[in-house]
Amino acid sequence: MIKGLTALSTLLSHRVNCIIQETRTTTCVACLDKTHQPGLCTPCQRSLETAQHPCFQCGLPMPRRLGPETPCGDCLRHHPAFDHTQAGWLYRFPIDALITRYKYGKDRSFAWPLVQLMGEQLRAYLAEPDTPRPDLLVPVPMHPRKQRQRGFNQAEDIAEYWGRTLGIPWSAEHLHRSRATAAQSGLDRKSRRRNLRQAFVVSRPPPAHITLVDDVMTTGSTAHEIASTFKAAGAKRVDVWVLARTPP
Ligand SMILES: [Zn+2]
Ligand SMILES: [Zn+2]
Repeated sequence: MIKGLTALSTLLSHRVNCIIQETRTTTCVACLDKTHQPGLCTPCQRSLETAQHPCFQCGLPMPRRLGPETPCGDCLRHHPAFDHTQAGWLYRFPIDALITRYKYGKDRSFAWPLVQLMGEQLRAYLAEPDTPRPDLLVPVPMHPRKQRQRGFNQAEDIAEYWGRTLGIPWSAEHLHRSRATAAQSGLDRKSRRRNLRQAFVVSRPPPAHITLVDDVMTTGSTAHEIASTFKAAGAKRVDVWVLARTPP
């Protein structure tokens, strides 16, 4: 009888261990293979494309390495008002698909592996000598109507996570959208800048060094407009941290 019970309890504990093992295996959000780590499997993580020799100012990939803090030709011509861009990856598959599903499906599990990976990259970047630490992270604001429709602002979600894990204050109260703007796609640079003019208002005095947070930087027109607005209000340096940069 006791022998029988011992066998039963061994069988049960084996079963429980199997269940724990099974629950530790998840599905990779990109390739749908089984993985032992949450989110992206290791091969998918390795396949993510980063910008080669990114321009210090706008983060676009360059054919060769530029000097430290040297802007690219495009930045020299168009003078973006922001000072530096940190972009995790290029906005290509599977990054584009993961971000889209996160934004429009409100499902964090798709983008969160990226947000966490980039959080680690930012930690390493901030630990480099002479890297200035931002005083405040500010998410790119969404128009209140759009935010109500979508249910959340992904930039706020990401800024909160990075702020918390990196120990930097973040605030969605320093900047607001003063008006809804027409969609930017299909507009050239001049029209984009015109479309965004005075679209943002600074609602609290900004500290000297602000870092804007968003999911994707496409042309940089929004970051330019916000950086000029903050600088006109007294900020000295405005950086940009985004998950992905749209390649040219
Ligand atoms: Zn995978
Ligand atoms: Zn550039």
